[in-house]
Amino acid sequence: MYKLPIHLNSGCPNRDGLLGTGGCDFCAENGAGFELLSALTPVEEQITRNMKYIGSKYGASKFIAYFQNYSNTYMSFDSFKTAMSSAIHPDIVEFSISTRPDCIQKKHLEYLAAIRKETNIQISIELGLQTANYHTLRKINRGHGLASFIDAVVKIHHYNFDVCAHVIVNLPGDNDIDAIETAEILSALKVQQVKMHALYIMKNTKMGMDYERGLFTIISLDEYIDRVILFLEHIHPDMVVQRIIGRAPEENSLFVNWGMSWWKIRDLIHNKMEREQRHQGDKWFSGLNF
Ligand code: SF4
Repeated sequence: MYKLPIHLNSGCPNRDGLLGTGGCDFCAENGAGFELLSALTPVEEQITRNMKYIGSKYGASKFIAYFQNYSNTYMSFDSFKTAMSSAIHPDIVEFSISTRPDCIQKKHLEYLAAIRKETNIQISIELGLQTANYHTLRKINRGHGLASFIDAVVKIHHYNFDVCAHVIVNLPGDNDIDAIETAEILSALKVQQVKMHALYIMKNTKMGMDYERGLFTIISLDEYIDRVILFLEHIHPDMVVQRIIGRAPEENSLFVNWGMSWWKIRDLIHNKMEREQRHQGDKWFSGLNF
């Protein structure tokens, strides 16, 4: 089974003026994603073309339709319904829909529940949180706080859909305590999946300009590895870690993964955990010892 990216003509309220125009400080205007076709390509065609390409490249026969870029519920409800219904296909077993916590409404969840009932396609919603530190969220201009994320998770869980939270544990100003707090909040909310990536800095972003002016520094790779392990120790042992380190396009970037391949960093994290006998969930249920 493989994730198959689908590019919708979605926007972001943090860019189009509803909440703000600059976007989150780290966000490059072109969004994120590899193997993405143009948003102008009809959804059905994106599915057939990517199924052919990804299916033969990775030997996949079943797929998760991954609505990845920007906020995929932020569009007219009719467009949302058309996009979702166009992605129904016998080899698609799940819809994974990426959006902002403040862009998911009851009507989206009701519609997705109806699709699941009719087709047995499973639903998961990917929500950007990045950090539980709401002061940092404000500083990086996320345009939503922690409460909005909690509210969205509770509502999504009401429909028995899975939630995948996106987390960056090395945002400027955050420390180990913020990583632990983020892990504990995700676990308390029974968030089923998490995706982590290290902060990367793109040119022509607010964060990129601040970085070039030396207004903040990025923690060292060793500190990052320690913080990721701390985060993993504090999440629930059953939480699925979909990604431990991301890859980012190197063109137009000022800083990506300390100049190393993502898989080398993944291996360093794994090796250190093995060497020190530390595991995901080791500190999840620590409580007071009395
Ligand atoms: S919410 Fe997402 S798409 Fe919008 S500015 Fe932030 S990171 Fe970019």
